[in-house]
Amino acid sequence: MNMKIGVIKGDGIGPEIVDEAMKVLDRIAEVYGHSISYTQLLMGGASIDVNGVPLTDETLEQAKASDAVLMGSIGGDAKTSPWYRLEPSKRPEAGLLSLRKGLNLFANLRPAVLYRELKASCPLKEEIADRGFDMMIMRELTGGLYFGRRSTEVIDGVSVAKDELVYSETEIRRIAKRGFDIAMKRRKKVTSVDKANVLDSSRLWRKVVEEVAKEYPDVTLEHMLVDNCAMQLVKDPAQFDVILTENMFGDILSDEASMVTGSIGMLASASLNETKFGLYEPSGGSAPDIAGQGIANPIATILSAAMMLRYSFDLDREAQAIEDAVGNVLGDGYRTTDIMSEGMKQVGTKEMGDRICSYIK
Ligand code: NAD
Repeated sequence: MNMKIGVIKGDGIGPEIVDEAMKVLDRIAEVYGHSISYTQLLMGGASIDVNGVPLTDETLEQAKASDAVLMGSIGGDAKTSPWYRLEPSKRPEAGLLSLRKGLNLFANLRPAVLYRELKASCPLKEEIADRGFDMMIMRELTGGLYFGRRSTEVIDGVSVAKDELVYSETEIRRIAKRGFDIAMKRRKKVTSVDKANVLDSSRLWRKVVEEVAKEYPDVTLEHMLVDNCAMQLVKDPAQFDVILTENMFGDILSDEASMVTGSIGMLASASLNETKFGLYEPSGGSAPDIAGQGIANPIATILSAAMMLRYSFDLDREAQAIEDAVGNVLGDGYRTTDIMSEGMKQVGTKEMGDRICSYIK
């Protein structure tokens, strides 16, 4: 297969961690007989420095012309970086929002996996951590409360604020289909999370998800109220495969799920639209505090590249090879500083990338 991948190295640790992910992709291409062409794209602070704006129209078009985009992280230290003296619409993060919008990325995927080898960093009780977990949170990204009309007014001398939570059947159906498609590639279970005992938008959500479920007879669907889900994530996370939910619930639950895995340097993510296209990036930021030191953990970006192979190119075997290689390197005791623990062997960004490559044979 020939893969056309747009690459946004970004700011801070971005270039360091993306280089390692490209190294791993190149290794996959070599071992499995694929070819990859990369187009380097500027976004965020790096684009401000060259173009004066965080995202140009040309870059957006180049991203659209790619099969998928691999991204590091963007942004700098808000207290010291000159990028944050610009007006908000010209800052690095504005570029990311415009990119997501321009590419119509309505589905956000965040895996939360507890690696056996990193059990010690899991804040849950030992007997829960011992069972491990491997879930995928699929969050709707462009609708709901964050995009509804809002207002604050004074009524009879009292301030009143309103935020509208709107979901259409179409918005729910397209994310639900995505969720079931992902479940078909995993353990075939979807937990749809809502607040249907109170909210109309959740009742519509539940109805449409049930309709979509009929098209996927192999997938088991269960419904869970969001308050219960927040509890179950810390009580019995092993029960979850795909969690499918709307924007605000997903925002909160995905952060909760990522915290119980232990380290931000391990957390991959993807944002998808209705086609096979996706934007793949680590969940963490550009970590300006450690940029340029060669110590950043590249694993989240490498696992994001594995997600890209699985979801944009349907290369499940190759994606699994990367995930297995990560497991093996951790099993051998290699750790970057952020996941270091007693008795383990500390390595830098590049060595971590090299060791992961060495397991792809
Ligand atoms: P951050 O995620 O960059 O850093 C938080 C802490 O985690 C830091 O101590 C950092 O050293 C550590 N960390 C993060 N990734 C790591 C890795 N791969 N390996 C080892 N340690 C890692 O969050 P922040 O400091 O709040 O934000 C820094 C900048 O990143 C800001 O400009 C912010 O806007 C931006 N940001 C960008 C994205 C994105 O590009 N999608 C996401 C979040 C934050």
